[in-house]
Amino acid sequence: MANIIILGPPGSGKGTQAEVISERLGWPQISTGNILRHAIESGTKLGMKAKGFMDAGELVPDDVVDGIVAERLVHDDCKEGFILDGFPRDLEQAHALDGFSSIDIVFDIKVPDELIVDRLSQRRVCDCGETYHLTNKQPAKEGICDRCGQNLFHREDDKPQTIKHRLEVYHKKTEPLIEYYRKKGTLEDIDGARDISIVTDDVMESLSKLK
Ligand code: AMP
Repeated sequence: MANIIILGPPGSGKGTQAEVISERLGWPQISTGNILRHAIESGTKLGMKAKGFMDAGELVPDDVVDGIVAERLVHDDCKEGFILDGFPRDLEQAHALDGFSSIDIVFDIKVPDELIVDRLSQRRVCDCGETYHLTNKQPAKEGICDRCGQNLFHREDDKPQTIKHRLEVYHKKTEPLIEYYRKKGTLEDIDGARDISIVTDDVMESLSKLK
C-alpha cells in the first residue's frame, strides 16, 4: 500500500504516469484537474467557480480544491493507497493535506520548460482521458480518439499564451513543494524528459523498494 503524490509542471506526464500506475497497482488516480474539468462540463456550482481560473491558467482557490481532495480520500477505494495527480499545487495545499492524510512517497517529474511548451502546444486530448501528441503519438484517424471514437480537442489552457502563464504559476507556487517534501525525506527525483515507459519503470522500481 502507498499514498503517492506525483509532482511536476503541466505537461510533465504526471497524469499519464498516474494513470499507468493506477492501472497496474489498482490504486485510484485522483486528478484535481480532471475533477474540475468534469465539474465544468456538468455545469455544477464548483465548475462555474473553477472555469475562469482554469481558462486563465491560474490556480483554483485552495479552500475549494482542499475540500474536494479531503472528501475524495475518505472513500473506501483509497484505503489501500491512492495517487494524487495535480494536488497539492502550493504550500497551503500541502499543509492542508498533512492535516488529513499521510504520504509515503512524492515523485517529482522534471521536464525543462522548452519541452513543456512543445508537448502542450501539440497535445490533443479526449474526454475519455486519452492523450495524443501531434507529432509523437498521433491517432490513427486525424482528430478522432483511437480508444473511444470521440473528437479530440486542444485544451483552452494548452494554448501558447496560457502555457507560459501556467509555467510561471508552476515555478512560483508549486516548485517550492519539491524542497518541502525533500526535507520530509519522501521525495524521489524522476527525469521526465524520457519515454513514457522508461519513466514508468523508474517510478515502479521506487515503489517496489517501498514495500
Ligand atoms: P491540470 O489538469 O493538473 O494541468 O490542471 C488544470 C488546471 O486546473 C490548473 O491550471 C488549475 O487551474 C486547476 N487545478 C488543478 N489542480 C489544482 C489544484 N490542486 N489547485 C488549484 N488549481 C488546480
